[in-house]
Amino acid sequence: MSAGAGAGAGREAAEELDAADPLREFRDAFVFADPDVIYLDGNSLGRLPSATAGFLGQLVTDGWGSGLVESWETWITWARRLGDRLAHHTLGAAPGEVVLSDSTSVNLYKLAVAALDAAPGRRTVLADIDDFPTNRYILQGLAEQRQLRLETLPSDPDEGLDLDVLRRALDQDVALVVLSLVSYRSGALMDMAAVNDAAVRAGARVLWDLSHAAGVVPLRLGADGAELAVGSTYKYLNGGPGSPAFLYVRKELQQQLRQPVWGWYGQRDQFRMAPAYEPVDGIDRFLVGTPPLLSLAAIEPALDVAGRVPVTRLREKSVQLGAYAVELAEVWLAPLGFRLASPREPARRGAHIALAHPDAARICSGLRAQERVICDFRAPDRLRIGLAPLYTRFTDVWDGLDRLRSFVGGRHHEQLPAAVSRVT
Ligand SMILES: *Cc1c(COP(=O)(O)O)cnc(C)c1O
Repeated sequence: MSAGAGAGAGREAAEELDAADPLREFRDAFVFADPDVIYLDGNSLGRLPSATAGFLGQLVTDGWGSGLVESWETWITWARRLGDRLAHHTLGAAPGEVVLSDSTSVNLYKLAVAALDAAPGRRTVLADIDDFPTNRYILQGLAEQRQLRLETLPSDPDEGLDLDVLRRALDQDVALVVLSLVSYRSGALMDMAAVNDAAVRAGARVLWDLSHAAGVVPLRLGADGAELAVGSTYKYLNGGPGSPAFLYVRKELQQQLRQPVWGWYGQRDQFRMAPAYEPVDGIDRFLVGTPPLLSLAAIEPALDVAGRVPVTRLREKSVQLGAYAVELAEVWLAPLGFRLASPREPARRGAHIALAHPDAARICSGLRAQERVICDFRAPDRLRIGLAPLYTRFTDVWDGLDRLRSFVGGRHHEQLPAAVSRVT
């Protein structure tokens, strides 16, 4: 597929692609506080939907201010209600299979323990050595606490984990496989159905982290045989900083699994305040305590926007944006020492690409400060360019990479001290 008229064609080609973009009006559903900023980091923190501030303001005034504790009558169902919306629109899951709660890290812990407890004869956990740090740390902790064997599979930092490497490691001792569908650094996309199939044959369970996939990669958790999944709502789903994560447990499995944190939100007849914990039937047994209601609520207006377009359409645009960025990077940035550090083939990537450069850290911070192009740096030497299809234009790609090329071409980064930002 060719995204456009070619990088050599100049900015007009990008303008034409924008004019022909069937999703272009979705930008109106988001806040653009500073039109000069080129935001290529929607995979870290999605943009603010225009409706969110008003929605939350009203919730605070009416729901909290007037309704007080009586508002919990409706709020109490929201983790489930929004979970069902997400299941239907984004995840390809059935009602009652998804709930919103806690952070992705905590949900990963809860589901990993639930799966391990259900496979007492098996002692091995498989993970990708290059997975997002929180996943690796949580599994390290579990392995230490429970004397499990954590086997970290070697994966290519640009191309991701090879399915054959996983297949070879799947033996009779493997209880659990934890993988990200889209690699946080390179964007490499795994084949969910093939992984699930390989694991089932070996009698193991897969726990998917969908943080970089949800909202941009069409997902069919039901049809693809997924059993367990978690993921973030503040990235491509635009739920806002720290919005509660989702967790998915396949219906047939829910009754056999118990999670390790026995809170009252997972209790049968919660308000009976019974003396002993007895998990409720269904997905709610994976809840723990009172949700951060305002953060949870912010997911609603975000889903109102996303719900207007099928993820398959978002995927089409995202593939096009990625191909265009790669094309421009090859012509403009390769001569300046950049190298594509993501799979070249669009079908094997999520919605972001990585560009490696020995001076990536300084380039990233200088680009933010001096050029107002916001992407992020990922160790050891990658610029990560996020291309959220709901609001990223082809001209944003053109302008962002154009500013990048003139910044590095002019060697401005060489004047900068080593990057010191605490958050990259
Ligand atoms: C962003 C991200 C997380 C975030 O976890 P939090 O608990 O919300 O901090 C987890 N896993 C992956 C793969 C991510 O990309």
